[in-house]
Order: sequence, then structure tokens, then C-alpha cells
Amino acid sequence: MKIKILEKGENEITFSVDGISVEMANALRRIMISEIPIMAIEDVYFKDNNSALFDEVIAHRLGLIPLKFPPGVFEFRDTCKVCGGKGCPSCQVIFTLEKEGPCTVYSGDLKSNNEEVKPLYDNMPIVKLEEGQKISLEAVAILGIGRTHIKYKAAISSYKNYPVIKIDTKKCDNCGACVSVCPKDVFEKGSNKPKIKNLEACNLCNACVEACGDKKAIEVKGEEDKFIFKVETVSGLPPEEIVLQACDILEKKVKDLQKEL
Ligand code: SF4
Ligand SMILES: [Zn+2]
Repeated sequence: MKIKILEKGENEITFSVDGISVEMANALRRIMISEIPIMAIEDVYFKDNNSALFDEVIAHRLGLIPLKFPPGVFEFRDTCKVCGGKGCPSCQVIFTLEKEGPCTVYSGDLKSNNEEVKPLYDNMPIVKLEEGQKISLEAVAILGIGRTHIKYKAAISSYKNYPVIKIDTKKCDNCGACVSVCPKDVFEKGSNKPKIKNLEACNLCNACVEACGDKKAIEVKGEEDKFIFKVETVSGLPPEEIVLQACDILEKKVKDLQKEL
């Protein structure tokens, strides 16, 4: 298996993997979007709330605030070996929120009892308080996975087959139709045939093949065992951490299956 990083940013990573089956590519994609442990607010206990929003609406908004947390440190609360599921510092983090109007309450107003766990962004509005309005609550964040609730989703992950584009110089009359029709700017005009300048951007849409028409000078297909993955984090975990954890989870699943056989 060969892996090559094509692009890496703070929130996104694009890489190619050569030598895996489509089933394995899909297993990795599914784990990335639904099985990576993510911390989010699960329980909210209101002491006071005379704002314009119901408790349930505020609790829902709090749940959707992405949290920054250290990976591999916390246990799932349900299976926590320390507390047996009651809730303890090994499996949960408690936030408090106390604000009086007039003001807008932001995610950054949440005070955590663990300095390593905090909202990823401080500027997410939660509720607007008018003069005399007050909110006071305690919120408990725990680990969960995207399969149980969208608030625990780690990433948006997709893959495509690695593109292969062949241009037959004998059939190509260099009309430029493929250059202008391509939505991904894959080609540039050459002296006797179009040049491929950005192969990995190709999304296999076949618009160039259709534009070429009866000349049939272009052939586009995807490699069957080579893929380009794009992973965008929507959580407090960096994208490369999500990929690494997905590989570990897949490996563990395979080992568990081997034990059963
Ligand atoms: S298949 Fe689509 S994206 Fe790929 S080169 Fe042709 S027109 Fe461009
Ligand atoms: Zn615990």
C-alpha cells in the first residue's frame, strides 16, 4: 500500500492510497464519519433561564458546539472503568454558564472544569439576553460517536477512484473542447494536443469525453485499487488524527473478527 499526502491544511487533508480495495476504502470512510470518539455536551442542567429561548433549544445549541479535547485521554462514560458510568473526571467534563443581560451569550462564555477541554470557537452565539434576563446552567460533555448523534460527527470524508486520462494523439485535432468544458480545470491547451496540468482534480464526470464526441480522442477512467481521499474535520480533532484513529479502529475490528474465527 502506498500513501501520498496531496494537500494538508488546518482543517482538511487530501491523500491518495494505492493498493486497497473499494470495500476497504469505504470502511475507512464510514469509520471516519461515524465511529471516531468526539466530545460534545450531552446533559444540561438549568438553574435559571428566563431568556426568550426554551431550555431545550439552548441545550440543543450547546450540544452542537464543537469542543477541543485531547484525543485518547477520556473514556466513554457508559463503560468508564473508574466510575462505572456515574460520571467522573475520566469520562466527563463539566461546563458552567452564568450570564445576565443585556448581552449576547457566546460559546466562549462556557467555563470548563478541565482546561484542556473548551469550545473550538469562542464566537458562536447561544442566546441573546435582554435587560433583566439571566441564564445559569451546568453542562456535561462526554465522548460519543457520530453513529449515535450528529453532534459527535468527527469529519466529512469522501473518496474517489484515482483518475486515469488518456489522449489519443492520432484522433485528437486539438479543438480545445475538452479544455473549455472541464469543470475542474484539468487541461490546458497544448501545441498539438491538450496537456493534463491537474490530473488529481478530475472528478471523472466524463464531460470532456462527451465534448470530444465521435472523435473519441479522450478516455477517462478511475483506477480500481487507487483512491483519493478528502477528509475535512468538523470537530475539535485535526484531520490527520481522524485518519489515524480510523486506521486503528479498522485494525481492531479485523483483530476482533480474527479472534472469533
Ligand atoms: S472527466 Fe470531467 S473533470 Fe475529469 S478531465 Fe474530463 S471534464 Fe475534467
Ligand atoms: Zn467515569
